[in-house]
Amino acid sequence: MAGGRPRPTLAERRAVIAAARAMSDEGLSPGTSGNISLRVSGGLLVTPTGMPAERLSPEDIVALDNAGRAAPGQRAPSSEWPFHVAILAARPEAGAVVHCHSRFATTLACLRRPIPAFHYMVAVAGGADIRCADYATFGTPELSDAALSALVGRKACLLANHGQIALGSTLEGALKLAREVEVLAAQYAGVLALGKPVLLDAAEMERVIAKFATYGVQPAVASKPRRLAARTTTKAKTA
Ligand code: 13P
Ligand code: ZN
Repeated sequence: MAGGRPRPTLAERRAVIAAARAMSDEGLSPGTSGNISLRVSGGLLVTPTGMPAERLSPEDIVALDNAGRAAPGQRAPSSEWPFHVAILAARPEAGAVVHCHSRFATTLACLRRPIPAFHYMVAVAGGADIRCADYATFGTPELSDAALSALVGRKACLLANHGQIALGSTLEGALKLAREVEVLAAQYAGVLALGKPVLLDAAEMERVIAKFATYGVQPAVASKPRRLAARTTTKAKTA
């Protein structure tokens, strides 16, 4: 891993802003809640504390070294910089971390309820459940430790009385997983309201996890589908 000073590019700063705006526009995190980090050469970029996503400019995004130190002259980093630094250090396969207070993930987190294998898609987070990390005050090293434990063998977790964290190899991947966790949390909350979920067993979840390794992998299309194009044109003419 590269050490020394962080060397983020302008494109990386812009990518963090785009992800923060998407998170906010999609209603995944109300107000100035939530924060995002991206691994860069020599460190990481993290969103500044307490700033609305729509007001962010590239220079507002804070560059930290791998120990979490910021060069002077920058905005104050997210209060959650300790867990962003700790997760990126402990999980070399992760390139980005998204934290948000999405509605249903937070609802379950306030009940301190993990998401069990009520639906096969729970495997999207890497295992047979999505754990809920123990409660700790926001921005503390204790919250980092709790999150790291809940993330063992997983790419996402809930944070008790707080929200959720999702990891990805890219920013898009981390954001996509945060959306998936929110959908699962909403479905699970609905299931709990109606009755007792029927859970999938460990063997079935193992099968699902194995299938996910190749799910959605498409072969290259051999050539331009001319016949298909011709048929579409004829249809359009006669319509
Ligand atoms: P920051 O504005 O400091 O990133 O904090 C928001 C948050 O979600 C704290 O957990
Ligand atoms: Zn938070």
